[in-house]
Amino acid sequence: MIKVHCLATGWVQIKIHHQVARFFARPARVLDVLTDKKWSPKLPIGCWLIEHDEGLILVDTGESSRANDKGYQPWWHPFMQFCERRGVKKHEEVGEVLKANGFDPLHIDTVVMTHMHGDHAGGIAHFPNSRFVMSQTEKQAINAPNAVMNGYLTMHYPDWFKPDGIAFNDGAFESFEQSHKLTKDGKIRLVPTAGHTLGHLAVVVDMGEYDILIGGDASYSEQDMLAGNIDGVCIDGHLHQQSTAKMRQLCQRKPTITQFAYDEKSEYRLKNKVFTVVGD
Ligand SMILES: [Zn+2]
Repeated sequence: MIKVHCLATGWVQIKIHHQVARFFARPARVLDVLTDKKWSPKLPIGCWLIEHDEGLILVDTGESSRANDKGYQPWWHPFMQFCERRGVKKHEEVGEVLKANGFDPLHIDTVVMTHMHGDHAGGIAHFPNSRFVMSQTEKQAINAPNAVMNGYLTMHYPDWFKPDGIAFNDGAFESFEQSHKLTKDGKIRLVPTAGHTLGHLAVVVDMGEYDILIGGDASYSEQDMLAGNIDGVCIDGHLHQQSTAKMRQLCQRKPTITQFAYDEKSEYRLKNKVFTVVGD
């Protein structure tokens, strides 16, 4: 039996040109975000709980209620200071959200990180007993000298935080050339979806008749995935487009419910089993 829950840890507002980039080259894109005066609506900061016979798996940990506190974001970082508005109350942090849904955060076996941006890694401290998994590339990125500049708030990682980096060595899977079997039965796979960050991964859950694709920030919404949009801060626009194409191909091979962290309709699609329809 596999069951997937879509959870939200408060909300975030980002710039309109961050949601969907107007330019392809990164310097122009990022400058466009920094100078943009228009804000998105309040978007959910999503994460997901998967109940599987081999244990409880959490995908991403959402944002911290301290994210707006003075000194939490690096003072010298223009994007962190001026380009995101966050609304997370203490009871909206992932640990409390899990408890409200009847799950003990200390009993989560594995936490999969789609990537390590602050609003996905803000709840790490709730899971001292869990094994953390991310791509080897993302693990290298959080250990690089420019990690904080690239949006990784490494100063907030607990001392015990020692994630496993995986290299997608379990062969091709559907539209993806590489994959990693997270569970022994192969029903939960991690696939590389580089672009937003170079080490970004997505989670594909095989529900039998259909798949659930948990995309994190591989696209910001189903609509963006269908359109092949890239976001304003992605590291590599070409890889981002290739990843959205592979996600669309997955939806064409098998009925698929797509889930994205900033997508207001993720929870609705999951609850009502709404499959993503890819046009020609
Ligand atoms: Zn991100």
